[in-house]
Amino acid sequence: MDRKRFAIRTYGCQMNVHDSEKVSSLLEQAGLDPAASEAEADLLVINTCSIRDKAEHQLYSDLGKLREWKAERPGRIVGVGGCVAQQVGDRLLGRFSQLDFVYGTHNLRRVPALLEGAFEGRRAAWVGEDPSPSRFDLPMQRTRSTEGQGPRRKAFVTVMEGCDMYCSFCIVPSTRGREISRAATEIEAEVRALVEAGVVEITLLGQTVNAYGRHDVRRGHAAAAGTMPFAELLARLDAIPGLERIRYTSPHPLFYDEALIRAHGELEHLCPHVHLPVQSGSNRILESMRRRYTRERYLEIVEGLRRARPDVAITSDLIVGFPGETEADFGDTLALVQEAALVDSFSFKYSPRPGTRAAEMGDEVSPEVAQERLTRLQRLQGGQTLRYHQSRVGGRTLVLIDGASRRGGDQLSGRDLHNRVVNLDPEAGPDLRIGARVPVRIVDATPHSLLAEALASHP
Ligand code: SAM
Repeated sequence: MDRKRFAIRTYGCQMNVHDSEKVSSLLEQAGLDPAASEAEADLLVINTCSIRDKAEHQLYSDLGKLREWKAERPGRIVGVGGCVAQQVGDRLLGRFSQLDFVYGTHNLRRVPALLEGAFEGRRAAWVGEDPSPSRFDLPMQRTRSTEGQGPRRKAFVTVMEGCDMYCSFCIVPSTRGREISRAATEIEAEVRALVEAGVVEITLLGQTVNAYGRHDVRRGHAAAAGTMPFAELLARLDAIPGLERIRYTSPHPLFYDEALIRAHGELEHLCPHVHLPVQSGSNRILESMRRRYTRERYLEIVEGLRRARPDVAITSDLIVGFPGETEADFGDTLALVQEAALVDSFSFKYSPRPGTRAAEMGDEVSPEVAQERLTRLQRLQGGQTLRYHQSRVGGRTLVLIDGASRRGGDQLSGRDLHNRVVNLDPEAGPDLRIGARVPVRIVDATPHSLLAEALASHP
């Protein structure tokens, strides 16, 4: 009999992308093959996001359409995981008869058993919390590139999971559970193994990644066993021979100490990019969001990072239309985007999430006003991003080629050290292929990317 084939549809953050990679490894270990497309798959897994209302509704719309997909070939299986699965649990099975299994954010390792049951006609959900560090013990990550061309060059490595911050707008503490950090020796061993297999860039992941181990020992938080301060962890990884690029996401401003700021000037392989979510530029709104820092502190961190590493690119997340946000509050956000000289940002209209404090606040901003603010913010950021890109023209950088450019044609695309998208003409240099690290000169700038020509490349 042919081996069964699976496809995974992933929504949401990088944590979800990485969870999908882990599920993919588990399914391959269980004897399934990745399908070239969903049309060929016997199993479809949807890895869901519930950070905003729209993301959650995406699942319901997908499931509606999947009735047809299942009917096309009897025996097809649909599984749902991720943050909506964690929250709604087995009620999803009651609501959608086309759904075969549901797994929570702590239960990835149950997927093969759930699948086996599903092939035998048993529908089930597994969404229990698992507060033990053993939930990090999953099979070794795939080390071949998904494009099938040589070894994989980039990998995510989880250092902590969960969140104890309870920002008033945020659903994450109830979908990802309490903070838990992984032992530093395990992280280091995973990174070493990845590098040995050809990986040159790692992104350390955590919901509040720099709260790793919580070594600032805030009230009620003792340092977790086997951990070390985040800056020390970075230094350990920086010393691994063969590792060329270290990134981390997403940090929280509260957990920047002097050592972490200095690390950006000291560690050779730590990339000059920090994605540092600020959410709002108004102290009143920051307090109501329970972010636990002020705009002044945020700007101080940005300034510290620039002092340590003058070319650092700072990007951020912003929310507009939070309950009670006035025009003056919003003005503070616009001003902060300029003062922090954000190179780019993701901006969102506030979306009330059930069970969060902000959802009970009242004092809502009308959808029209929120939309209008979002448009103004994005216009400001767009101009700022373009100017930053233009300032890079003529400069040199190093690109790690990821794949084909989104711009179409036969251009290749990759990221530079500052995490900007750089497109390259494949004719423009020798050995331009996926996985290559190419020194380039930037020749043009667009609002969303840089255009470069290769200087020379090394494999
Ligand atoms: N752990 C990250 C942090 O604290 O910065 C949050 C990651 S979250 C997946 C990505 C972004 O979604 C957040 O930084 C925030 O800007 C946005 N977000 C979260 N909850 C939201 C909500 N209820 N409405 C609108 N945007 C939201």
